[in-house]
Amino acid sequence: MEKRELVIIGAGPAGLSAAIYGRRAGLDVLLLEKGVPGGQINITEEIENWPGVEHASGPELARMFRSHAEKFKTEFRDVDVSKLEVRGDTKVVVTNKGEIEAEAVIVATGAYFRRLGCEGEAEHIGQGVSYCAVCDGAFFEGEEIAVVGGGNTAVEEGVYLTNFASKVYIIHRRDEFRADRAAVEHALSNPKIVPVWNTVVEKIEGDGMVENLVLKNIKTGEVSDLPVAGVFMFVGQSPHDECVRGLLDAAKGGWIKTNDAMETSVEGIFAAGDVRDKGLRQVVTAASDGAIAAMSASSYINEQVHLRSLLIEPEHVVALFYSSIEREQVKLSDEIDVLAQRSGKKVALIDGYKNRRMVEKFGIESLPAMVELRSGAVVRKASAAFASDAASFLK
Ligand SMILES: Cc1cc2nc3c(=O)[nH]c(=O)nc-3n(C[C@H](O)[C@H](O)[C@H](O)COP(=O)(O)OP(=O)(O)OC[C@H]3O[C@@H](n4cnc5c(N)ncnc54)[C@H](O)[C@@H]3O)c2cc1C
Repeated sequence: MEKRELVIIGAGPAGLSAAIYGRRAGLDVLLLEKGVPGGQINITEEIENWPGVEHASGPELARMFRSHAEKFKTEFRDVDVSKLEVRGDTKVVVTNKGEIEAEAVIVATGAYFRRLGCEGEAEHIGQGVSYCAVCDGAFFEGEEIAVVGGGNTAVEEGVYLTNFASKVYIIHRRDEFRADRAAVEHALSNPKIVPVWNTVVEKIEGDGMVENLVLKNIKTGEVSDLPVAGVFMFVGQSPHDECVRGLLDAAKGGWIKTNDAMETSVEGIFAAGDVRDKGLRQVVTAASDGAIAAMSASSYINEQVHLRSLLIEPEHVVALFYSSIEREQVKLSDEIDVLAQRSGKKVALIDGYKNRRMVEKFGIESLPAMVELRSGAVVRKASAAFASDAASFLK
């Protein structure tokens, strides 16, 4: 099977940024993408909030990201990843063109906005149909626009859009919003917000840009026109988590949980960008996640390689596993190091707090502990609360 150091799934802003950081850290990086590198930004006409570039079309920015990653010799591969598996100690990326074993994997598969599905929606995306208020709100300064939805996102983003628009119609199929009471009160007290109850959008019209919505009142059946310059759909967003579903801990809806280092619930698997459980899904936050994930993956790989050469590969080794967050244990590790040197023996000092997987692998129940290994297999282990315990272990 093909073996690689860092495999990144998804070449959106998160994956491309991870590739740049990964290559600059000296890693062998393979970037897997089933569509067009650049991800979601490929379907937006204008990006005005990527620092340093005052204005670019999405595809332009995507090309810049890609050529930046290529400059550092990232290897791209056009494949669809169906599954990420953990087999024993190894991570295997299953694709439609074969399997790849990876030291570390970054899942950067992004997310998608659910479509409303009405006539005229698809052809007006980026031409007045938007799914992101932060991205596109500023393009509607002084205009009348509409929001579709009735949950928290629709109501809160509707209020946010009043910063730009002269009027925001919130079109909802029921006669009250599903959002929290505070959010609803805040929205309804805003003079620029106009709720349109019991109504669905049947059609979006406009020659080029959006000009009009054809609405239907689902109680009376009445059909009417609503002239607006834009319509924001807030009928839900979902992660592209298909290839890791059930493997990684996720929040409701499938959003992958990570810590600040972008580590997931499985050691050596990181997640970055929109697929993560987080507050703001934008290019700048995806790129930031990607950078952090790549640096965490780099430390992980270096540590694994180091640990393998220290503990698994030698014919015989004695190691002390201690916890770097316990001051007493750090002191003890120094004492045992001196003691070993004096007696002409070698003891590998391993931070068991940082390398929990190794601790579990060797069946160490509590730290600190002395372990004797032969060709990677434990032959003896004992707890080592004092330097004297280590001394008798070494005898
Ligand atoms: C219309 C629109 C306008 C937007 N405007 C802005 C804006 O103005 N400013 C802004 O900051 N943000 C904007 N955004 C949001 C921004 O695009 C996203 O936050 C950003 O792209 C997230 O990056 P990502 O790398 O996490 O995911 P994505 O961009 O979604 O990239 C993920 C990539 O992974 C690939 N992939 C998924 N599954 C697999 C698989 N199984 N195998 C292989 N490849 C896979 C996908 O094909 C995709 O290319 C906009 C989004 C949309 C949809």
